[in-house]
Amino acid sequence: MRLERDSDRWFAPAVGAVLVGAGTVLGALLGAVPGAVAGGAAGVAGAFAARRFLGGRSARRQALLAAPFPARWREFLLDNYDHYDRLPADLRRRFEDDVRIFVSEKRMTGIEAKVTDELRLLVAASAVTLSVAWPDYEWDQLTEVLLYPNDFDRDYSFESPELAGQAHPWGTVILSIPALRESFADPDDAYHVGIHEFAHLLELDTTRFSGIPPGLAPARSREWVELMEREMERLRRGKSVIDEYGANDPAEFLAVAVEAFFESALELRRRHREVYEVLAEYFRQDPAAWDDARGLRL
Ligand SMILES: [Zn+2]
Repeated sequence: MRLERDSDRWFAPAVGAVLVGAGTVLGALLGAVPGAVAGGAAGVAGAFAARRFLGGRSARRQALLAAPFPARWREFLLDNYDHYDRLPADLRRRFEDDVRIFVSEKRMTGIEAKVTDELRLLVAASAVTLSVAWPDYEWDQLTEVLLYPNDFDRDYSFESPELAGQAHPWGTVILSIPALRESFADPDDAYHVGIHEFAHLLELDTTRFSGIPPGLAPARSREWVELMEREMERLRRGKSVIDEYGANDPAEFLAVAVEAFFESALELRRRHREVYEVLAEYFRQDPAAWDDARGLRL
């Protein structure tokens, strides 16, 4: 995420120009030359107001990031998040900035649960793990994160819990708090409900959940589809590091492969090198190399 988004840079001036033009034309229609001047002036005032309003986000982000990253947040992440721990210094700085922006700008609501700072950090860390190396990524498609006190069922009741999380086509992500905590507590079991649901959300800009990482070059997409078919077959035979939950549905395959990429990077690289390489290129991250660097072995 950037201090100033690209769209902010051109959108405010464009709105301003339209307001000045409209003011001038309207003024001219109502009162000839003096009317045009007055209308133009009103347009300029409107343009400044628009600039202030639209520039507000950049200013807020600037103020937010001017302070150092809170020490207790850093301590909490170091204690609770292995991926944060292994990030190279430059990416760790970006991770901290993005987490702060995410926590301050995204809506997180507890359902029969209190949303603590720690929970906000865990949610933000899940999303930012995927996007940290994409400076322009904003998670605009996310409308709200709902935090549930427990696993839930398809009617959103807690009587026969079967779901730990869900990503909706309209941009809501639901996460069960115990499942989210467990995901962070065990860093290398290839299970992470936060990463899983936000991986689904990546596909929300596309017309359907196809299981193809959005934004992949066309040739790479075709490669991915072939690779995915082979890997899903391997899953069905039970010979995979990737969770068998991904065996029959391409969108689920992508989500569990992304979980394995971040949670079992060394194993995925060794046993599913092609999957690892596509995802490393896609996310612009190399977690297995970072594990090598800190002396981890399988
Ligand atoms: Zn899923």
